[in-house]
Amino acid sequence: MEVVTRASEMKTLSCRVKESGDVLGFVPTMGYLHEGHLSLVRASRKECDITVVSVFVNPTQFGRGEDFDKYPRDVERDKAFLEKENVDILFIPEKTDIYPEDDIEYIEVDEKLTKTLCGASRPGHFKGVATVVAKLFDIVRPDKSYFGQKDAQQVVVIKNVVKNLSLPVEIKVMPTVREDDGLAMSSRNIYLSEDERSQAASLYKSLSTAKGLISRGNKSSEEIKRIITKILENEKNVKIDYVEIIENERFIPVDKIKDNTLVAIAAFVGNTRLIDNTIINGKNEE
Ligand code: AMP
Repeated sequence: MEVVTRASEMKTLSCRVKESGDVLGFVPTMGYLHEGHLSLVRASRKECDITVVSVFVNPTQFGRGEDFDKYPRDVERDKAFLEKENVDILFIPEKTDIYPEDDIEYIEVDEKLTKTLCGASRPGHFKGVATVVAKLFDIVRPDKSYFGQKDAQQVVVIKNVVKNLSLPVEIKVMPTVREDDGLAMSSRNIYLSEDERSQAASLYKSLSTAKGLISRGNKSSEEIKRIITKILENEKNVKIDYVEIIENERFIPVDKIKDNTLVAIAAFVGNTRLIDNTIINGKNEE
């Protein structure tokens, strides 16, 4: 595995891959890798000739008071995981290669897609995500790029950027990888104390209970929201940020749950903010 730290070198390598006619797959991450990330890597390895993984803790997607400074970082650990997966290139850009100036030019993101869910709780977050992903695409020039359904809003925002900027990359979305008790894998799970860790399983529990009720005919958003809220509120360290039931991809609230409805939650477990979601009868349904 080649480890590249400069954007210019990465661009040269990407051009070489392009010239050879190989298909380039790309997995952007913030590191501290887990099986969720590795599922994206494996999908890319299966479908593409060359796989590039980036590790960059992107400062512009963290708000003031969020966990940028304490976000877990362990490059040696990440390298070992990626070597084992036979990744071709690990790109660990320097901050100045991504943001050469202190004054950053941001990509505009469609407000209709970001005024809800995590965008409402984390103002500016998706502007940072869209900008860094566009910059990474420009450097890596992937044919396909792999994202996790766990970050449902991120997927929609990125697809929208790709469409509106006519970027020549195919966005592939992979299912959420979970721990045995259903907790969605996340680099942030490391923050959880033992007690919080067991209470964090309530996020998945609430979603699967909701899904069961919906499949048995309860289509009322209001009722399903109430049931999810009750399950989460039962845990003393869980504080709800949002419970939303909305049309997937357009993010319009729905009263009656139908095909391709997104049930999305965010909650603080202790001080750690976790998210999860499920799509009802959608093509990404797990
Ligand atoms: P992050 O390092 O958290 O920015 O995540 C990098 C990529 O991995 C994003 O596309 C995430 O959606 C994806 N990802 C994170 N956690 C999971 C998971 N549990 N299952 C599948 N994909 C995930």
